[in-house]
Amino acid sequence: KIVCVTGASGYIASWLVKLLLQRGYTVNASIREPNNPKKTEHLRALDGAAERLKLFKADLLDEGSFDSVVDGCEGVFHTASPFYHDVQDPQAELLDPAVKGTLNVLNSCAKASSVKRIILTSSIAAVAYNGKPRTQDVVVDETWFSNPEFCRESKLWYVLSKTLAEDSAWKLANEKGIDMVSINPAMVIGPLLQPTLNTSAAAILSLIKGSQNFPNASFGWVNVKDVANAHILAYETPSASGRYCLVESVAHYSEIVKTLRELYPSYQLPEKCADDKPYVPTYQVSKEKARTLGIDFTPFDVSLKETVESLKEKGFVMF
Ligand code: NDP
Repeated sequence: KIVCVTGASGYIASWLVKLLLQRGYTVNASIREPNNPKKTEHLRALDGAAERLKLFKADLLDEGSFDSVVDGCEGVFHTASPFYHDVQDPQAELLDPAVKGTLNVLNSCAKASSVKRIILTSSIAAVAYNGKPRTQDVVVDETWFSNPEFCRESKLWYVLSKTLAEDSAWKLANEKGIDMVSINPAMVIGPLLQPTLNTSAAAILSLIKGSQNFPNASFGWVNVKDVANAHILAYETPSASGRYCLVESVAHYSEIVKTLRELYPSYQLPEKCADDKPYVPTYQVSKEKARTLGIDFTPFDVSLKETVESLKEKGFVMF
């Protein structure tokens, strides 16, 4: 059985490719720079890659460039989307690749009669940002959808890109009768397979690399292996439908620092919060629907330890 993974060199996608190969799939993997060893070597080294991994060049903004990648595939995992916060031109750097890119991939799928289901890597960013209060007693679930106006006013450009991309994807999927399921993870941590640093692992790296302050922010966190596995289960489970939030726990950065201090007592970790306002409260995210897929979430402290160990092994920290 042949499946496609877009943006295959990325953090989540690399794990997805690894698990798909392990399960016996043939994987058509799209990459922007198939001749860059930093983007491909770790994929070519995976078990089964020599026999069942095919690399294709495709760019989200290149209309039709996914036609040949999805052709012949039964499943398409669309993970490619820029994830950065430091942007100069949000429209060109984030919104266009996220939204036009998603429609581009879906249109290629609509043309390929082989495609049975698309799994879209969306985000909790497309779920939880609607301006409603989020406090300890509030449970966010799949019925929530982020509000583009709220994201725009708050200049949350990445959050807006994921919100608009998922919204446009559902509209097109409904219009064209495409079977689509979305996976909506929070901040993803755990071991890196790729040699480059991705944004969510960088959030942990900055805490252990001598930063003076920790941000006054609370985010949901989830292990990358659970996220990759959820994609596959959502594809393989015929009754899977709609959206699946993936959050093991929501934690304020102060709690993350506390856990890191317990795990790594000799590390110099930030002592103070970046501002002196009250801590941004944590909230809850329902695990109920994710559990129907059979997801058994890796505990947060285990994920945190795996992240730090991997950052050390990859040479991002020298102690
Ligand atoms: P990475 O930055 O590691 O991966 C992003 C991937 O998107 C890369 O393969 C990148 O290619 C590709 N990409 C970006 N722009 C383009 C473009 N114009 N054309 C083709 N490919 C492009 O991030 P993650 O693995 O973390 O993110 C993967 C997906 O998961 C994204 O959709 C992200 O929004 C989502 N997500 C991530 C979370 C996290 O905490 N990590 C949480 C929730 C959702 P290249 O390598 O060439 O740059």
